[in-house]
Amino acid sequence: MIPYGRQDISESDIQAVVDVLRSDFLTQGPAVPAFEKAVADYCGVGHAVAVNSATSALHIACLTLGVSKGDVVWTSPITFVASANCALYCGADVDFVDIDPHTYNLSTERLAEKLAQAEKSGRLPKVVIPVHLCGQPCDMAGIHALSQRYGFKIIEDASHAIGGKYRDEPIGNCRYSDITVFSFHPVKIITTGEGGMALTKDAQSARHMQLLRSHGITRDESEMTHVPDGPWYYQQIALGFNYRMTDIQAALGLSQMQRLDDFVAKRHAIAKRYDQLLADLPVITPWRHPYGYSGMHLYVICLKLNQIGKTRRGVFEALRAAGIGVNLHYIPVYRQPYYVNLGFKDGLCPEAEQYYTEAISLPMYPGLTDEQQDQVVSTLRKAVSA
Ligand SMILES: *Cc1c(COP(=O)(O)O)cnc(C)c1O
Repeated sequence: MIPYGRQDISESDIQAVVDVLRSDFLTQGPAVPAFEKAVADYCGVGHAVAVNSATSALHIACLTLGVSKGDVVWTSPITFVASANCALYCGADVDFVDIDPHTYNLSTERLAEKLAQAEKSGRLPKVVIPVHLCGQPCDMAGIHALSQRYGFKIIEDASHAIGGKYRDEPIGNCRYSDITVFSFHPVKIITTGEGGMALTKDAQSARHMQLLRSHGITRDESEMTHVPDGPWYYQQIALGFNYRMTDIQAALGLSQMQRLDDFVAKRHAIAKRYDQLLADLPVITPWRHPYGYSGMHLYVICLKLNQIGKTRRGVFEALRAAGIGVNLHYIPVYRQPYYVNLGFKDGLCPEAEQYYTEAISLPMYPGLTDEQQDQVVSTLRKAVSA
């Protein structure tokens, strides 16, 4: 089976991990801050907080921006469930803004309309979480302008987007957001096995996220309510979690950072080749907005079903049966049973629901060979011809 995504691990990645295993610290050692600094420097942002997943990063990002019971957080329906669940963890409510039919990202027009309505009903969102789907940046300048007018905060879910650019600047610099989150799951652009990171320009937010990732415990006297009882002393000053990344993971991440630009360039070469090979098939290939350079995490095609004598399911199953590990990113979050139980109804986001009937993610990862790619395309060609 050719998978839809997979990690790329080199001998130097392996050596970096082995070096940590032979060192004094498997966790809470020097590799975590070194990895944080490498990512912060790459992105041109002041602060980076490494954690054990992007899901954890989204949770502590929401808490740090003050999301709590009575608040509402808005995100895109076409995302992984974690982009929405983070608000529910904080006791807040979630709502969804429909997608743009060309980029499949949260639509700025739909956002503007929904904000105007929410202002009238007095239920403006506290935080909006745009998701850079497939690595393609959202219209951050547009979303940021709306945040100034309506007073909400912004968390970029950039789980797909490390290595990408928006208006010639690295995604992660937080120019148009309060916090940006990356994922380092093995299918993502660089990996630490499991892992994530939250980036911010704001020193206080960074410090709060550091506290929350490690039980809310501080050893910094200036943060304590009184002078330490002795050299052993620490204080718990917030209700935190154990969301720490290990040094084993951070060493892998640091090593992968040196390969990031190559990974993204390779992904773009594969995408360009797909664009050419698929040009005469009844599919819509991914449209790249000129303001962005995608991290190219995923290559999603939409089937022109009215020109194909088969259902999406039929095409999908034919590909899987032929050993092509296609996938689907994503089922609209509010159609998950958990969200249906919260009261969400079909029809909430028509563009997202339309996308869901047509989309298929083709294999996309740096190690995909031309031969494998040709096999994907020829199998798809057969699957879409009647
Ligand atoms: C992968 C992913 C996450 C969650 O990342 P983890 O590191 O697995 O917790 C969140 N949002 C999006 C859009 C993702 O693709």
